[in-house]
Amino acid sequence: MSDANDDERFASPAPGTQEIRCSACRAALESPGRATVSFLLVDQLTIPVVGCADHKEQFSEVCGLTTEDTARVLDHRPAGGVQCPGCRHSTHRSQHPVVPVTDGAVAVLGCGAHVDDLVERFRTGLWTRHRLTTSLPSD
Ligand SMILES: [Zn+2]
Ligand SMILES: [Zn+2]
Repeated sequence: MSDANDDERFASPAPGTQEIRCSACRAALESPGRATVSFLLVDQLTIPVVGCADHKEQFSEVCGLTTEDTARVLDHRPAGGVQCPGCRHSTHRSQHPVVPVTDGAVAVLGCGAHVDDLVERFRTGLWTRHRLTTSLPSD
């Protein structure tokens, strides 16, 4: 699967926030708080994420490619709350994986298992989109 190399910049380890070009994302990541935390809904998952609105939306769109349902970003805590107790409490931790999204970045504030799940979806989504945009029939 050598084609996957194209996506390597997305899959590389989290950059320091100073390397994130989107200043809105940088500001959100430097001081995550109630105003910058949104909730990404995809399948049964509700995962708190931090970043600017644009990049959270892009992140959600890519994750949505991995499911029949639509991934959505809520700016407020969803009515049912965050289902997973680990994710619910993880917003209080200070260290979270930061996933580069084009020229911005989104921090995923879930528990370990759900962060892995979401990051995996994001990578799969990028790969799916890559295939969709590069394998259009040429004849
Ligand atoms: Zn941004
Ligand atoms: Zn969780």
